[in-house]
Amino acid sequence: MADLRPASGAAARIEARVDVAAVRHNVRVLRAATAPGAAVMAVVKADGYGHGAVPVAHAALDAGATWLGVCTLDEAMALRGAGITAPLLSWLHLPDEDFAPAVAAGIDLSVASRAHLAAVCDGARRAGRAARVHLKADTGLSRNGAVAADWPELVDAAAKAAAEGECEVVAVWSHLAHADTPGHPMLDVQAARLNAAWRAAVDRGLAPIRHLANAAATLTRPDLHFDLVRPGIAVYGLDPLGRPVGQSPLRPAMTLAARVVLVKRIPAGEGVSYGHEWTAATDTTLALVPIGYADGVPRRLNFGGRMQVLLGGRLRPVVGRVCMDQVVVDCGPGGGDAVAVGDRAVLFGPGDAGEPTAQDWADELGTIHYEVVTGVHGARVRRTVVDGDDATAGRRA
Ligand SMILES: *Cc1c(COP(=O)(O)O)cnc(C)c1O
Repeated sequence: MADLRPASGAAARIEARVDVAAVRHNVRVLRAATAPGAAVMAVVKADGYGHGAVPVAHAALDAGATWLGVCTLDEAMALRGAGITAPLLSWLHLPDEDFAPAVAAGIDLSVASRAHLAAVCDGARRAGRAARVHLKADTGLSRNGAVAADWPELVDAAAKAAAEGECEVVAVWSHLAHADTPGHPMLDVQAARLNAAWRAAVDRGLAPIRHLANAAATLTRPDLHFDLVRPGIAVYGLDPLGRPVGQSPLRPAMTLAARVVLVKRIPAGEGVSYGHEWTAATDTTLALVPIGYADGVPRRLNFGGRMQVLLGGRLRPVVGRVCMDQVVVDCGPGGGDAVAVGDRAVLFGPGDAGEPTAQDWADELGTIHYEVVTGVHGARVRRTVVDGDDATAGRRA
């Protein structure tokens, strides 16, 4: 599909391959889990969690998501610029941003304070149409949103602006702090606070919908789905509950690979990479793979010496330190027959061919898979989009 190869036709040095068939599958899984009457908003902030917001948005809408969610006005405008007309919510802004183009483009805007509401209404006046606003309540995350003490005045100001025709209050919404622990009592506390915030808006004559659930709550707490759910990570096939590949109904969409630039023999006793943290115990074959921490492979991924890539049909260890631009793979004493320049080393993927997964990286790094996939970016990473091509991971290029 959108494989933007250069005219030379050369395969990418570094490829982040995104399978939109996996995205569609995941959105269908999420829809099936969603309570009757609730719509699905696919969250495509941070350029679709590093996967490409536009192709992911198209795939998600094809599979039955009816809303899209992003963080910034630029992200929202980029989707509109790509011709996507679906309802679209943008939720984190400075009050001195220019909201007129977003209002004109029919982008729903989250508002968390009277200053933000005033800025959005100013944009609406200049755009010549009412802004669609989602009033954000801080129900316990203590991040974005208006706290309970500030809620009455925000609702009052929004009701007045709505009466003036400057805005339409589309929703009252919030975000969960403990969604990945489905039985945590805070989920019910937050739902009750959201209901109270919504009730205050209804009592003021407004008729907003409610939304609260991210991916984890979409999969585990149908009682919190209200009118709309906002899954992000699961759209990309990464399990919000940490279930391993094979136990998760989701399918990871991204495969990160790079092509071997050099293969050579070194004698026993030679050290490899900066600081010589690894020394060859025998004569061995090394493969040099041109991807490093500038491309989203954290240095600390190999601090324990456990990083592996799928290359030449099997998992092989990365030896020595991860550098800015490259890693070195030990192919073993007999490895020279199995690996050649130009071969594709798979760093992580869905795991079907035995390659590591983003979850494996996250476990090794002591972080979450969200950080792994959003970290893969930069001018040297070529993102390619495939539709259902899941058979080539680890094969020779
Ligand atoms: C990122 C985000 C989501 C999606 O969260 P996931 O855990 O990826 O499902 C939903 N709502 C808000 C406000 C967010 O910032």
